[in-house]
Amino acid sequence: MVLLKEILEKTELTQADLISLLSCELPDEIEQIRAKAYEIMKSEVGEKVYLRGLIEFSNICVNDCYYCGIRRSNKSIQRYTLQYDEILDCAMFAFRNGYGSIVLQSGEQRTKKFIDFLCRIISEIKAKTISDSLPNGLGITLCIGEQTYASYKRLFEAGAHRYLLRIETSNPELFRMIHPRDISFENRLECLYSLKDIGFQVGTGVMIGLPGQSLEDLANDILFFKEIDADMIGMGPYIVHKETPFANFEDYFQKNKRDIYKLSLKMIAVVRIFLRDVNIASTTALQALYPFGREEGLRFGANVIMPLLTPVSVRKNYVLYEGKPCIDEFTNSCGECIIARIESIGRTVGYNQFGDSKHYHKKDKI
Ligand code: SAH
Repeated sequence: MVLLKEILEKTELTQADLISLLSCELPDEIEQIRAKAYEIMKSEVGEKVYLRGLIEFSNICVNDCYYCGIRRSNKSIQRYTLQYDEILDCAMFAFRNGYGSIVLQSGEQRTKKFIDFLCRIISEIKAKTISDSLPNGLGITLCIGEQTYASYKRLFEAGAHRYLLRIETSNPELFRMIHPRDISFENRLECLYSLKDIGFQVGTGVMIGLPGQSLEDLANDILFFKEIDADMIGMGPYIVHKETPFANFEDYFQKNKRDIYKLSLKMIAVVRIFLRDVNIASTTALQALYPFGREEGLRFGANVIMPLLTPVSVRKNYVLYEGKPCIDEFTNSCGECIIARIESIGRTVGYNQFGDSKHYHKKDKI
């Protein structure tokens, strides 16, 4: 194998290099990869951490993904959609606390009523938050799955400017194994291209540690991010949920949990090394595997964190995977907790800023 040091000094990494990096196991090697990623993060996007207050506004979903806890067939959860004013209150909380941006996330619904409702909320949040500190109002990211080109366009025109849609895996065969027939890899790709065409800053990502997923698949995922020219990346470990057809992977998951966690951190670092100037989120799922998982994500090169703003009363119904942190009724102030965590590792929060993807804005100048 080529020396790790040599790979880390290369300007263009090949698929084989990416696999080599992801397969490093020795603590000293992992530390070298982490340090390189951190250095690149520092020079390309800075050390600030940007907040996106996460509002999980509905768990109603028309999809039946085999891995996901809010899949249509899970009858053990109560379905909800937050009221207009409840969503607005969450957004205003983010605004008052200097978060700069929010993410509106939900299960998938494609009705006109749903899109109308969201457009109205987006416009109102924008109108209410234009201020000296945020001249363009709160930044709004959407994460509401596959929609039509026309719906995406309406949402963009209403004022949302970023969109997260994970490809889940760039291996079409693995994609088919984890989704029912009516969800196609081709359509997911088309959605990503529509979002870019409309002008959204586009985020994508994958689950790490899916049964049957190889290091080669993960290296290809990273190449895929580059190929579609993603502005933002959100990745996290796959964690089994008991009320899904994949519940029988529980043993596999328990046995491999530690490795999946380590691999997730390595993925963050390698994506940072390869893509350099994108925004990378340190996702909540990391914290489900290790209490300080999100801080570790930041140390491995992530620069975005999403404090949960979803009202405590419905959190237990928005559980995509087992062990999601912060869902009990005593956890009201995710923001404060997260800010303390960020500061505990010597990073600072980028208050009252969009913290947009540097990658996206560089494209304006070309
Ligand atoms: N319906 C929306 C958003 C909700 S799901 C959408 O499709 O974008 C958000 C992300 O949670 C998914 O993209 C998936 O990658 C992740 N997720 C779902 N189930 C998971 C599980 N069991 N373990 C880890 N991540 C999961």
